[in-house]
Amino acid sequence: MKRTVSLKLLSEPPQADRLANLAAMFSQACNAVVPLAVEHRCWNRVALHHLAYYSIRKRFPNLGSQMVCNAIYRVASAYKTLKANNGIAKDRPVPGISFDRAAVHFDHRTYSLRDGAVSLFTLSGREAVPFVCGTHQANLLASGEPREAELVCRKGQWFFQLVLDIPDVAPVSEGGVLGVDVGENSLAATSSGKVFGGGKLRFERDRYLAHRRRLQSNGSRAAKRKMRAISGRERRHVEHVNHEVSRAIVQEAHQLRMREIRMEDLTHIRDRIRAGKRVRARLHRWAFRQLQDFVAYKAEALGILVVYVNPAYTSQTCSVCGAIGKRDKHDFSCSCGNRRHADVNASVNIAGFAEPVGPARAVVNQPEFAHYASA
Ligand SMILES: [Zn+2]
Repeated sequence: MKRTVSLKLLSEPPQADRLANLAAMFSQACNAVVPLAVEHRCWNRVALHHLAYYSIRKRFPNLGSQMVCNAIYRVASAYKTLKANNGIAKDRPVPGISFDRAAVHFDHRTYSLRDGAVSLFTLSGREAVPFVCGTHQANLLASGEPREAELVCRKGQWFFQLVLDIPDVAPVSEGGVLGVDVGENSLAATSSGKVFGGGKLRFERDRYLAHRRRLQSNGSRAAKRKMRAISGRERRHVEHVNHEVSRAIVQEAHQLRMREIRMEDLTHIRDRIRAGKRVRARLHRWAFRQLQDFVAYKAEALGILVVYVNPAYTSQTCSVCGAIGKRDKHDFSCSCGNRRHADVNASVNIAGFAEPVGPARAVVNQPEFAHYASA
């Protein structure tokens, strides 16, 4: 199982400046790879490496050969994410991605950890940067093998986000199945009757999305600038909400001694929900997938199996008698007398009759790029 630990770096100028210089050049190198990915419709890491390596290495000699590889990797993974989020149409040109302040990707060749400090490749050689190591970070670092990492800057503060490979815990062998419905009327609902984020959280998420849509349709330069600014804030806000909600869902499963969590396979989410433009726009796909991913990794840490199911008919079918019922916004009612929250009804069906589509699927990362340049 993979988990990410975020290490707050204790870097003062001039060291912080050296990190900033590295990040700036790394972004430039990423931006220089983009036209090749666009022209060749290529986001396979190895193929893109062959297309880009020599020219990028020549243009950015200070970046070093390993960091050039990392920049190519960063661009390939950004395009994979874009594709997974349906951002690349078959019959259209591949959109350009702009890396304004890209997170710098590090692999095992470009960093190492030694007590309380991380040794990082920079443009002026290796730098040992101390980090804040509380109990939480220490426990995580002790629990797994460090893998790849990202160097990111938020409001002037540098963080090193390190992925850890943690050995799997023994699976829970006995217990029930908890169905989880995400993203329609509430952020999530469980078959045990809990509804999460129906109120303020959803309102805030929708407010951000509406704001972004207005800016998108405006299209002016100022609007684009504004959109870049809110996209980072929005993403961090959604991420925060998703962490809270996923924690509560997994706690619910743990307390009820569930052995399995079932969630809908979101591939079909657009087909399933026939609704107005306003609602469709709300289906901000990566936000829901991120919520599911957070549930999955928190569940796996406790040995709870995660299964994805085909959600066909789960929202119309009565979870008590199996007939087709009626839903009116978040109310579900059936002629048998069953009446409950529509999302809870759906989640009971997800736990019940919905067919598994497989235990795992490709992980979709949150968008790590700043914005799409006009295509
Ligand atoms: Zn019924």
